[in-house]
Amino acid sequence: MTDSRPAKAAGYLARTRPVVPPIYQSATFYLDDLAYKDIQEGGLREHWYSRFANPTVDAAAAEIAALEGAEAGLMTSSGMAAIATTLLTLLPGRVVAARQVYGDTRDLLVRDLPALGFDVTMVDATDLDAWAEAIAGAPTAIVYAETLSNPQLDLTDLAALAQLTHAAGAKLVVDNTFATPYTVNPLRHGADVVVHSATKFLSGHSDVIAGVVLGDADTVTEVQKRMITFGGCLDPHAAFLVWRGIQTFDLRLERSCATASQLAARLAAHPEVVAVRYPGGEIADRIMRPGRRGAMVAFTARGGDSRALAVMRRLTVASEATSLGGVETLVSTPFNSSHFSLGPAERAAARIDDGMIRLSCGIEDAEALIADVEQALADTV
Ligand SMILES: *Cc1c(COP(=O)(O)O)cnc(C)c1O
Repeated sequence: MTDSRPAKAAGYLARTRPVVPPIYQSATFYLDDLAYKDIQEGGLREHWYSRFANPTVDAAAAEIAALEGAEAGLMTSSGMAAIATTLLTLLPGRVVAARQVYGDTRDLLVRDLPALGFDVTMVDATDLDAWAEAIAGAPTAIVYAETLSNPQLDLTDLAALAQLTHAAGAKLVVDNTFATPYTVNPLRHGADVVVHSATKFLSGHSDVIAGVVLGDADTVTEVQKRMITFGGCLDPHAAFLVWRGIQTFDLRLERSCATASQLAARLAAHPEVVAVRYPGGEIADRIMRPGRRGAMVAFTARGGDSRALAVMRRLTVASEATSLGGVETLVSTPFNSSHFSLGPAERAAARIDDGMIRLSCGIEDAEALIADVEQALADTV
């Protein structure tokens, strides 16, 4: 054998200049002096083992960091891996969190973190006095909120919350999955760390589970160290799908947000609809980009959860499925899916109305989708 294996690899790679990042489906990489030096110094810069870092995964992280205006980004195996790894990096200490959060985030906050010995206090995301009281009530390490909450679409005043958080010496962690960087960049409003389920709008095609953590380089490096030991790294093939989805992020969101705002306006005037949740008002004007209010709509059908279920099952353009943020419109009722574990009192406290339907607008024709929802409401009177 004349040629070494690394030299052969260098030979065929040097001839290629791909426009799209290759899928580096390799668990490990040839070692050289730089890699050994990196391993000995903590192992976070070079590519030598794909649980630590992988070029395709880094490519996806860089795209999302640019969208969020972040210094650094780290992909994880899911949105929940991003959230759990971030919180466990910034602990120990006490967490003050919004009551209006994604169902599994809620389980992490009310079941898992307390079981590990951490105090968690939950407050109404829309009540700044309640935030201030809870944060000042005891030493606080982390303040946690969703920009736009799942599923009730309550908008958090991130700038005001960042001020309260920093005055207490804590870090503000924001889940920006629902709002997306198309409408708001939480880091620009004082958030210290942003997390996403990249499964949703960022990848945009309902074909991959992924998460991302964004922030300053030092903080993201600390989260990366825990991702390495907790193990929630992203697979290169999944990272490729995220990267590809992001290439159409602005186009998809432009279309989906326009559809959502038309749908929200039509539903607000509908006699069979008791309430519509769609961002608006002073906080939205202050923190969201002009004319961009997101692609999620929640509305409450007259007649409670049984009516909501009937309406959802009459839809033909929108599909009954959990998840959101894809090119196809997805619809769900929180009472029997993402938030089934909440009792009636907890649901009321989290502002999840009896009869609430959650819709993630895709890229279908807006009029076709609106007509679909209207016929489902008409057929179920
Ligand atoms: C889906 C979702 C998550 C969890 O993300 P996974 O990728 O499914 O792990 C977290 N937060 C919000 C707001 C979500 O919608």
